[in-house]
Amino acid sequence: MKQYDYLIVGAGLFGSVFAHEATKKGRKCLVIDKRNHIAGNVFTENIEGINIHKYGAHIFHTSNKEIWDYVNSFVEFNRFTNSPIANYKGKLYNLPFNMNTFYQLWGVVTPEEAIAKIEEQKKEYAHILEPKNLEEQALVLGGKDIYEKLIKGYTEKQWGRPATQIPAFIIRRLPFRFTYDNNYFNDIYQGIPIGGYTKLVDKLLEGIDVRLHTNYFENKDELDLIANKTIYTGKIDEFFNFEFGELDYRSLHFENHLLDKSNYQGNAVVNYTEKEIEYTRIIEHKHFEFGTQEKTYITKEFPHEFSKDNEPYYPINDDKNQELVAKYQEKASLLDKVIFGGRLAEYKYYDMHQVIEIALEAVKKEF
Ligand code: FAD
Repeated sequence: MKQYDYLIVGAGLFGSVFAHEATKKGRKCLVIDKRNHIAGNVFTENIEGINIHKYGAHIFHTSNKEIWDYVNSFVEFNRFTNSPIANYKGKLYNLPFNMNTFYQLWGVVTPEEAIAKIEEQKKEYAHILEPKNLEEQALVLGGKDIYEKLIKGYTEKQWGRPATQIPAFIIRRLPFRFTYDNNYFNDIYQGIPIGGYTKLVDKLLEGIDVRLHTNYFENKDELDLIANKTIYTGKIDEFFNFEFGELDYRSLHFENHLLDKSNYQGNAVVNYTEKEIEYTRIIEHKHFEFGTQEKTYITKEFPHEFSKDNEPYYPINDDKNQELVAKYQEKASLLDKVIFGGRLAEYKYYDMHQVIEIALEAVKKEF
């Protein structure tokens, strides 16, 4: 008899949802994480009464009522609606592209005027039948003004290369909205957990054994003997000791400032869309929760190359990496005592609601 039914590597959303559900079914779980906190990338830390999103701004949104009810059964969500603002050379534009944005760009007031203006802008690029890169694709879809003011600089900073060297498929369409609606998401449900995401994960892990500061690979001999099965949510290439090579990621660098003022930018998210400003956005965390504290905490987000010294945030799902991950997935499929799940183990970008959904599916398959 082993001490645990499941060893769960990673206390992020995937690992915590799996641990919670398996425990409900009477199984004994040990959750480990190499970090000194639970919650993975959705970790929030309370500083000066403000819940800080330590690994980037996280807004929960879904149209899946089951998932919305699930998360709300652990913690109450507030009514936050993501309405980011773009700052291009000191001028402000509402996002996503909607009637407010079109008014700010061209002074057009009615949807007909906006549609006519966009068509006129696009006409100049109608000769491009097969866009060769992101720049051409964006020009074909939206014309020069939107591309130059709101897409070019931001995307080049995100990817760390000129738009002419970014594949066209990254932008399949531009989500134009011909109403005065600044809600970034189209989902039915949206909000932020009151008290932060850590509270949600705390509730998921209630009564479950958790070991922090514990790297699976540094304690593998002991940990592999402790449980009947392993749920692995770390990097898939690392699990196989990078046997076929390393997968690529984009990373981020965060610059944090606690400011002695109550309101810095009046909005949770402001994107900086010009190339000359190195960061892509500034997050003012208190606005996720309608905070009224005396101080405020802001984070500047700088896209970064991934290396051993920073976090793997966004998988780069190009042909080269997809071929590589397929090799690792083939090896993973041969292991019947290990389940690979979550954004790092599957090498897929997942939103929070999606990662909860796949964790619940993994539970269904197990029991
Ligand atoms: P993670 O949260 O990364 O958890 C994996 C855990 O495994 C980590 O804690 C890690 O420390 C641990 N681990 C890894 N290797 C080992 C090891 N060897 N030993 C022990 N522990 C290990 N989603 C939204 O829905 N809305 C948003 O607004 C949103 N914003 C985002 C912004 C950014 C900048 C990023 C990067 C993502 C965003 N997401 C957002 C996505 C969201 O973060 C993910 O869906 C979610 O965190 C994935 O959970 P996970 O459990 O798969 O991974």
